[in-house]
Amino acid sequence: MPLVAVIPEPNAPVEVREVVEPDLEQNSALLEVEVSEVCGTDVYLQQGRLAGVPYPLVPGHVSVGRLQKIRGELFDVEGKRFNEGERITFLDVHRTCNACWYCLVAKAGTRCPQRKVYGITYGLDDGLCGGWSTHIYIKPGTRCIRLEAEPETFMAGGCALPTSLHAVERGDIKIGDTVLVLGSGPVGINAIVLALMRGALRVLCIGAPETRLDAASEAGAFATLNIETHDEAQRLDWVREHTSGRGADVTIEATGAPEAVVQAMRFTRDAGVVVVVGQYTDHGSTSFNPHLDLNKKHLDVRGCWGSEFSHFYRAAQIVAQRSEPWTRMSLISYGLEQANEALADVSEGRVLKALIRP
Ligand SMILES: [Zn+2]
Ligand SMILES: [Zn+2]
Repeated sequence: MPLVAVIPEPNAPVEVREVVEPDLEQNSALLEVEVSEVCGTDVYLQQGRLAGVPYPLVPGHVSVGRLQKIRGELFDVEGKRFNEGERITFLDVHRTCNACWYCLVAKAGTRCPQRKVYGITYGLDDGLCGGWSTHIYIKPGTRCIRLEAEPETFMAGGCALPTSLHAVERGDIKIGDTVLVLGSGPVGINAIVLALMRGALRVLCIGAPETRLDAASEAGAFATLNIETHDEAQRLDWVREHTSGRGADVTIEATGAPEAVVQAMRFTRDAGVVVVVGQYTDHGSTSFNPHLDLNKKHLDVRGCWGSEFSHFYRAAQIVAQRSEPWTRMSLISYGLEQANEALADVSEGRVLKALIRP
């Protein structure tokens, strides 16, 4: 019998339950989970901060495992058939319809109203759809990728990797740019690595605590600043000192704090770009001066919500071919029974990346 770690309802502790093994539909599979993860979104899911989430919920949207049983046929994006026993990961976003106005006219698949996400908007009633589980039901139409990277190395990036890849693309970083990353959690750390791959000359990072700033330096940040010991004016001065008084060419906000969005605007040079990726769940409002903070600066502020198959696919390729930055990231593993502890450690910032090993 599969075991799952489930959030019964918002603000309730995680419980481990036994569930029945699913019947496989045609062209579906049962995945034996090797590694899943705990990310900031899971903390917010436990706190009930995302609308439209069906509880009880088994979290864990990005996972790696082996195909234990396949019914019918599954193919990868190049038309190669998957076999039982192969190690895969899969895009957590399912059912993007490619038929609605958002998919076809706006070409914005992340806004498709049909889309469902494993571990977020698929609840336990939809089947074994989260990674905090011994098994995941791979529904028909799920986009699977054969994993060439080591599972731990791939999961060191985890869900933060496609998210930050999307953010770095949205930032349109140019060779020689100075990029500022606000936040030193997994998305921030991955954004540093990818901004450098994309040609940034230097990446600055403001975050906390000190252990995460060390991780930012390790990832290649040119300089870091602790947000807990520097107020907004001191942060602005620091950014200006590093950018000939102008501000960053591109700023990526990856914090989860609404006021950081306004600071991102203030820390960016005139006619620069700000990407907001840290507000995936609702943390409330903030205010800014439209004249001073936005219009007079001729700023380009871009939202970046979720990711698509192209981001996930390229993330898997990058970790397989250029794995070095991810092999150095620190990981801590927890069993299903330790899920509450893992959530608390992620929430308090005590660990950079928490993995779940069912
Ligand atoms: Zn659609
Ligand atoms: Zn996540």
